Amino acid sequence: MVLRKLDYGDSDRIYTLLTKEHGKLGAIGRGVRKTTSKLAAALEIYSQVDVLLAHGRNLDVIAQVERKRKPRIEADLARTSRAALIAELAERMSEDRHPIDYLYDLTCWALDELAVDPEPRRASAYFLAVALDLMGYAPQLAACARCNVKLTAGAHPFSAPAGGFLCPACADPAEPAVSSGAIKVLRVMFARDLDLYRRLRLSTAIMDEVDDTLADQLEYHLDRRLNTLRFLRRMRAGS
Ligand SMILES: [Zn+2]
Repeated sequence: MVLRKLDYGDSDRIYTLLTKEHGKLGAIGRGVRKTTSKLAAALEIYSQVDVLLAHGRNLDVIAQVERKRKPRIEADLARTSRAALIAELAERMSEDRHPIDYLYDLTCWALDELAVDPEPRRASAYFLAVALDLMGYAPQLAACARCNVKLTAGAHPFSAPAGGFLCPACADPAEPAVSSGAIKVLRVMFARDLDLYRRLRLSTAIMDEVDDTLADQLEYHLDRRLNTLRFLRRMRAGS
């Protein structure tokens, strides 16, 4: 999958590709910005492609490309910004030539789903949850993250530094709590129960809470912030 492209030199472009077997890799498309190039159209961003690479001195060179599919992500900001978030996180998580199990399929699924779901945040939130899980940063959802007592039904504050939700004894009463509805949705996501997750009715308020909790957890664990996440939060704050 084409995660990113960057113009290089007079007519070349460097692509960041996410692959199933080889993890992330960079490859150069020679002459793709010339009008005569047949490669460029197949290498649009988020396209799923079959590529034949030739070893180059620094970067591999794209010798042939065949496009398999491309999600039709409409040019509205809600969708394109979340597609960018998925691509940025997939790239950040991956090391060169080290595949992470399931990341490729998850990324393809999320972008396909983002193109068709009426609620664009549903796919990106699920991607964030499973990505956190794949990185080993799934939050504690059933027991208090500080004292390990089983959480009662009801709202609980979330603490990324503690690693999950807090019971009333451990929580600061001033801390805003996440609703029990949102906590239930998060449990479904981290259980990776995709069938159930897709059937859940998610109100805007619950989706906001789920998004914020996942973003807090992600930002706490990533050493550099994601540009797209910062942008999305600013956009929400301004709306
Ligand atoms: Zn506690």
